[in-house]
Amino acid sequence: MEQLQADVCVVGAGFAGLAAARRLVQCGLEVVVLEARDRVGGRVWNRALPDGTVVSAGGTWLGKGQHRMFQLCEELGLEVYPQYKRGAHILRLDGVNHRYRGGIPSVGPGTLIALGLALVRLNLMARRLPADAPWRARGARARDARTLGQWLSGPLNVPSATARTLLGSAMNLLFCTDPAEVSLLGALTLARGGGGFHYYTDSRRTETHLVDGGAPELARRMAEHLGDRVHLSSPVQQIAHDGTGVQVVSTSRVVRAQRVIVAAPPVLAGRICFDPPLPTSCGHLLQRVVPGAIMRVHTTYPEPFWREQHLSGQTLAPQSAVQLTIDQTPRSGRPGVLSSYAFSTGALRIARLDPAERREVWLNSLAERFGPQARRPTQYLETDWSSQQWSLGGMIGHFPPGTLTNYGSALREPVGRIHWASTESATLMHGLMEGAVRSGERAAHEVLTRLGAR
Ligand SMILES: Cc1cc2nc3c(=O)[nH]c(=O)nc-3n(C[C@H](O)[C@H](O)[C@H](O)COP(=O)(O)OP(=O)(O)OC[C@H]3O[C@@H](n4cnc5c(N)ncnc54)[C@H](O)[C@@H]3O)c2cc1C
Repeated sequence: MEQLQADVCVVGAGFAGLAAARRLVQCGLEVVVLEARDRVGGRVWNRALPDGTVVSAGGTWLGKGQHRMFQLCEELGLEVYPQYKRGAHILRLDGVNHRYRGGIPSVGPGTLIALGLALVRLNLMARRLPADAPWRARGARARDARTLGQWLSGPLNVPSATARTLLGSAMNLLFCTDPAEVSLLGALTLARGGGGFHYYTDSRRTETHLVDGGAPELARRMAEHLGDRVHLSSPVQQIAHDGTGVQVVSTSRVVRAQRVIVAAPPVLAGRICFDPPLPTSCGHLLQRVVPGAIMRVHTTYPEPFWREQHLSGQTLAPQSAVQLTIDQTPRSGRPGVLSSYAFSTGALRIARLDPAERREVWLNSLAERFGPQARRPTQYLETDWSSQQWSLGGMIGHFPPGTLTNYGSALREPVGRIHWASTESATLMHGLMEGAVRSGERAAHEVLTRLGAR
């Protein structure tokens, strides 16, 4: 066992852990980062296709309000470029492709009004929440006892069957989970951090830019600056803590430090053995913030052929196994890359198929939207985030009913010398790469304050 000493040990080298470590090192502290995987980035991951094309298989797009992410790209010499949005998007409903442009799908006026009113009501509820303590809001307990699914299925809340299908699908996509599993208060908390649900449901806000080389390249550069402070393939198993310091034990290293920042997703942080055990509220919280299911497939073609058909590549098909597609063609314009997704129960269902059958179902659903050419990709790459041992799902952990009001106060509250980071603990842009960076910087700030007072 290698023995290491540091001021601070950071567990996890996703954006939260890397941002925390970067800030602490900039302030002159000795830092050791222990990462379970053999790579940095966590939920951002660059994967290479057989022809050498590299695709970002996790967090990919930057959007409005991701200020820290844009700044970090600039600081680390990475360019960003706009997402391809020319041409029409497709909404596929009841077997029919409807082309539309901009952010508003081509559905009847009654559906549009129902959608608009539902979003306004949800946003009004979200806006009234205190960002850092939504569990203290008036009516929080009642909203936390209800699920988002119950609210959406209320005919008075969403008085149109098509609007209910569309909103249900958007929420499935956002949480990668059946809205029946997500607390209404939890959903509103996420919306509060992004300035409203329209932020997450409108690709003109969420998917404005791509990082040249992929968002994982930003993580790689952050780790490069940290140098040999980052130790890969070092899953942390135990954290012992007392009034004098912490001892962090991974499979290959023991780190003694003044403080530890646990920057793993809650569900994985909860698997670490803490000695003494965490306070009950904290331990229970970590077991409850669970990720959903998301499977992503990249298909490549010699050219982005859909562009010639005046299509943007963006499609939404709530009734299909493959609910969403986005054009992820590299900046050079070749090869054409389509990124497509199955979410929530759809992802679970499709994951159960044998690989050949799954590929068939997947390509058929692309062909329904883009024609037979879509059925003949030059390359096909699947990423099932639920099968990733050190993520256990994606895109984010959600709050089931009762979690925030009963345990929410433990979300960011340090336990002695243990501090918490991860996009799930962010108050702004929770669930996004921006939220992860902000949570890491917040945890670093906590540590600096405490060590300054030492
Ligand atoms: C498919 C997908 C698409 C997405 N798309 C977008 C997008 O377009 N835009 C956007 O902004 N966000 C997107 N996201 C969300 C974004 O990627 C995440 O919010 C963000 O990357 C989370 O960062 P994090 O540091 O909080 O957690 P993670 O990235 O999960 O990092 C945690 C790290 O901790 C490590 N770890 C876990 N347990 C241990 C242990 N015991 N010991 C040591 N290390 C451990 C893990 O290996 C991991 O590296 C997407 C996510 C997915 C999965």
